[in-house]
Amino acid sequence: MAKSFVKISLASKLRLVFGAAVLAIIAAALIVPWYFMELLAEQGLQPAAAELTRLRLNEWIRDHPGNPDASSEVANLYTLGARSEGRKGPLFIKLDPNLKKMDALLTPPARQALRMFVQNPDQDSPAIIRTEEDNQTVYRCFLPVRVDAGCARCHNQAQDPKFQYSSGQLVGVIDVALPGSLASGPLIWWTRGTFVIGGILAGLLAIISFAIITQRLILRPVRKLRDMADKVAEGDLAVRSSIRTQDELQRLGESFNEMLEAIGAQHEKLRSANRALDLKLNELAEANVALFQANQVKTEFLANVSHELRTPLNSILGFSDLVAGASDERVRRYGQNIAASARSLLAMINDLLDLAKIEAGRAEVRFDKVSVADACQTLLALMQPLADKKQLALEGEIAPDLPIIVTDAGKLQQILYNLLSNAVKFTPSGGKVTLSASTAGAGGNGGEAREVAVSVADTGPGIPEADQQRIFEKFYQGERSLTKESGGTGLGLAISRELAVLIGGRLSLRSSPGHGAVFTLTLPIEPDSNGERARPREAPPEKSS
Ligand code: ADP
Repeated sequence: MAKSFVKISLASKLRLVFGAAVLAIIAAALIVPWYFMELLAEQGLQPAAAELTRLRLNEWIRDHPGNPDASSEVANLYTLGARSEGRKGPLFIKLDPNLKKMDALLTPPARQALRMFVQNPDQDSPAIIRTEEDNQTVYRCFLPVRVDAGCARCHNQAQDPKFQYSSGQLVGVIDVALPGSLASGPLIWWTRGTFVIGGILAGLLAIISFAIITQRLILRPVRKLRDMADKVAEGDLAVRSSIRTQDELQRLGESFNEMLEAIGAQHEKLRSANRALDLKLNELAEANVALFQANQVKTEFLANVSHELRTPLNSILGFSDLVAGASDERVRRYGQNIAASARSLLAMINDLLDLAKIEAGRAEVRFDKVSVADACQTLLALMQPLADKKQLALEGEIAPDLPIIVTDAGKLQQILYNLLSNAVKFTPSGGKVTLSASTAGAGGNGGEAREVAVSVADTGPGIPEADQQRIFEKFYQGERSLTKESGGTGLGLAISRELAVLIGGRLSLRSSPGHGAVFTLTLPIEPDSNGERARPREAPPEKSS
């Protein structure tokens, strides 16, 4: 058995697939914490950032004592009005009641924080927003400044409606840039690095342990099984599995062993059956040779005996004819009886001689140009007296376009004479016998005919289905009652079929009991270039004893 080419081994496939699966799982497991880590870091920053913002604000107030707006009551607030660019210190943005007007003065992150504080009136915690400034990532901390009860009390004492505030009102936002070390310091990168390294290490460990486990549990026993199967394929049926893994693979190995035992037993049985067959074959061959020799002897004997019988029979016939002409009525009848019996004996001997010649391969065939139409007309004329004697209508239907064919005229005549005399013999008085001839075997529409078919049809009793093949056998005569009164030897059709094959044709029969019989002889217009005698016979004659 041809080994199929293994493109990738099971081990490599397992490692590759498992490795890819492990990497995908670890990557998927890390993606979520990776994205949430930053968020968590920002949230963790919030208290520190708020504290830092207040500290910076107080430092600023301390460093600018002369500022008229600074006061202890607003210790952690400082009014600077609109944002001035380039300031490093904290920035308090005093909000205009008209927030929309204010919006234009604010930076995008400040605007974002302001919106957040307006939407969440209870939020006092800082908002930390990441922004890009001068190609650097900067974290800004925004603190909401809301009016508390103290502020409201003082402000509301003043009668100026410009300074009237309600408690909790958002009046400003403090904007402080956080130091890089605090916001995006190495902590995040460390954490990210740890994540990645942890993931890679976990993946590597998983792959290595998987490789070791699959090697031990699956691949090693599978390799053993494969080696075993290879040895079996090479014809070694003695090999057995020794897998002891206490699992399905061990069971598979044991099944393999059982299968090998069964195959071994079958092999042995087959071998002994083969030996017996060889013996029988030898016996048969010997019997065949003996049969062939016996057949040869029989054929030769038959030919010789038939030949030897003809000479005395001919003289019996001659003398019986003389006796049949005697003046005494009784002697004349005896003479006629002897002559009739001698003639039928001579016919039988002639038949036997013909058959023996054909079977011994000694029948000579002489191919010549023959007019089938002429042959048919001659036969019709020959049969007419016999048909008249039996009160039968004898008709000929010869196609006008019949070609001249190349065949053995004598054999053709002998076959047709046999068929016609059978038809006349078996058709009761008042019936009809028709001899027809036409071309056949045209290859498709308008194709040239390659054969000629000559048929002998009668309106006799027909031939039962069961007898239709057997009547071509030697000495087979079908229904006894029919043939007893008609006489005959049962050799006519056997000889006719042999002769038909000899001249390259075939003889067939169509009949349904009660509706007559049609025997058809089909002959090629031209015999094969190799000579028809070289052709295998369609139905080899049975070797009778
Ligand atoms: P024979 O005619 O000498 O008996 P054949 O070989 O010519 O031997 O025929 C074999 C048998 O086939 C005959 O005995 C007969 O039973 C049957 N048979 C042959 N031709 C016809 C026919 N035209 N109609 C009916 N039966 C036939």
